[in-house]
Amino acid sequence: MVVTRFAPSPTGFLHIGGLRTALFNYLWARRNGGEFKLRIEDTDQSRNSAEATKAILEAFDWVGMDYDGDPVYQSDRFDLYRSYIMKLLDEGKAYYCYMSKEELDKLREEQMARKERPRYDGRYRDFTGEPPEGVDPVVRIKAPLDGEIVFEDGIKGTITISADEVDDFIIARSDGTPTYNFVVAVDDALMGMTDVIRGDDHLYNTPKQIIVYEALGFKLPRFYHVPMILGEGGKKLSKRDGAADVMDYKRAGYLPEALLNFLVRLGWSRGDQEIFTMEEMLEYFDPADINASASQYNPDKLLWLNAHYIKNSSNERLAGLLEEFGVYLLSHDKREILLDIFKERCKTLKEMAEQIKEVLERPENYDEKAIKKAMKGEAVQILSSFAEKLKKSEDLHLPSDYHAVLEEFVKERGIGFGKIGMPLRVALIGRLGGPDLSDVMSVIGVKESVERIERLINQVKE
Ligand code: GLU
Repeated sequence: MVVTRFAPSPTGFLHIGGLRTALFNYLWARRNGGEFKLRIEDTDQSRNSAEATKAILEAFDWVGMDYDGDPVYQSDRFDLYRSYIMKLLDEGKAYYCYMSKEELDKLREEQMARKERPRYDGRYRDFTGEPPEGVDPVVRIKAPLDGEIVFEDGIKGTITISADEVDDFIIARSDGTPTYNFVVAVDDALMGMTDVIRGDDHLYNTPKQIIVYEALGFKLPRFYHVPMILGEGGKKLSKRDGAADVMDYKRAGYLPEALLNFLVRLGWSRGDQEIFTMEEMLEYFDPADINASASQYNPDKLLWLNAHYIKNSSNERLAGLLEEFGVYLLSHDKREILLDIFKERCKTLKEMAEQIKEVLERPENYDEKAIKKAMKGEAVQILSSFAEKLKKSEDLHLPSDYHAVLEEFVKERGIGFGKIGMPLRVALIGRLGGPDLSDVMSVIGVKESVERIERLINQVKE
């Protein structure tokens, strides 16, 4: 059985790099009919917040990634960690170290002066004497004194670290609290992890964790260290690029499946396929195919994917989602026509909501540049005679009915389409651009169209 996990430190929001790591773990577990677990790494009470944990759970909920069992909180497990520290002490695989901070600093300075890599010198490793008084000791684990630590990384290949790069590192601080690499290794082993997929910023924690696994006689999982996501220009992904809160994507009108599709392709590929349904991801994803080089965040691609998923969503679903953006169409009689128009044109739900509002609500004010451009010459006169024609026409329902009226109108007057098109746009939605005018009129009807035209005419006359 494959067991994976996502193990965020709740120091802030879930950002997209974290979500991608979670997704990779999720897909690999689910593809194999295994388990995907969530572990909240909240041992550092000064940097963690309950709010951040809540935000992480909320983001999981939004993207629909379910995990097995309840989340595991490291802060609940101090006694457990303590028992494993005692076990290592009892077995002579760890020891108390009484070195003071001053002594450590001095050692470091001396080593640096000799151009050596600063490392603990093992002075308490085999200590049997009388410990100095008044010092609360730390606990250090016995790291190998020679040879190498070697592991096979599923993405990066064989990683070899010489024993002299790892010293007897601290596993419990002088106040008794366990340290990061110790608890991660204990948890991963006890939670039954078979595969650990995580950011490659953790690559050099792995040898330390392996030392813990070995000291405790735990079986090693397979490790996959995923290269990071780069922002524009190959720089570190910044808030501006989208390193921010996953929930910002919801607020900006992205669909969760578009975001997941976008993320799976950041660092993983299958031929040149871009669009992956969740079913396809589950069928094909394999961490062994993750790219060994960094991937690049591309906001245009995310927009493109989002447009694709919007276009392919049912109107019912879109109507439900648009409520969060202040547009209520679930029981609107023009729901189908409105959504059919705008799902083809819009890249985000937010943009959709704004454009639908432009149609449903009268323009609050008119774009000045548009007025200047559209309302010259005979525009007022053309508009008012078009309004007259509209009023006289019967049985206007479909966009094609309105289109026929427009066509007849330009023919009768012998004018180009723009002569009526531009002023009519300004009258109906307050600006140039926007959707097809026949579509707009068919949604709001003759009476409202005429009223909007008259409103603009009055305004221009003033
Ligand atoms: N808590 C770590 C982080 O948020 C992840 C640790 C791991 O995946 O091993 O970066």
